Amino acid sequence: MQAIINYLHNLVPLELFKGMWVTGRYLFRRKITVQYPEEKTPQSHRFRGLHALRRYPNGEERCIACKLCEAVCPAVAITIESEERADGSRRTTRYEIDLSKCIYCGFCEESCPVDSIVETRHFEYHGEIRDDLIMTKEKLLEVGDLFEQQIAADRLADSKYR
Ligand code: SF4
Ligand code: SF4
Repeated sequence: MQAIINYLHNLVPLELFKGMWVTGRYLFRRKITVQYPEEKTPQSHRFRGLHALRRYPNGEERCIACKLCEAVCPAVAITIESEERADGSRRTTRYEIDLSKCIYCGFCEESCPVDSIVETRHFEYHGEIRDDLIMTKEKLLEVGDLFEQQIAADRLADSKYR
């Protein structure tokens, strides 16, 4: 009996019709394909993209080298070295994030007590050699300077939900 059922099943390709039916249902519906990069989908103000180090309005870097971000990073992607300045404050001499290890979890920015390390909305970047994906302190500060206006606006928007 089963052999007959299998034989009939082979004669009538039901799965093929089912598949064509699903395709047909979407044939005349409104198209939802986004033509990237000309078109982009909306972004949350909490989007976690490329990292940045922020400065205070007077130009002083915010980071106090407490190393909380380094300790909390689950991917061990952050490396920090620090020294004490003549005025007794502590600042980093080396701050690096290895983007090839980073999993963009956002723990670093959540742990930072002075809102220094953040993840910007910028995601259109790439590296051609491994060193391109090492974000040095200089590069991070540069990204911070570039996107400070948006970072500040996003932090303000975020504070309204806390
Ligand atoms: S986003 Fe997560 S994985 Fe990436 S550097 Fe920050 S804590 Fe580490
Ligand atoms: S970025 Fe923030 S958490 Fe990381 S060392 Fe600097 S102050 Fe501490």
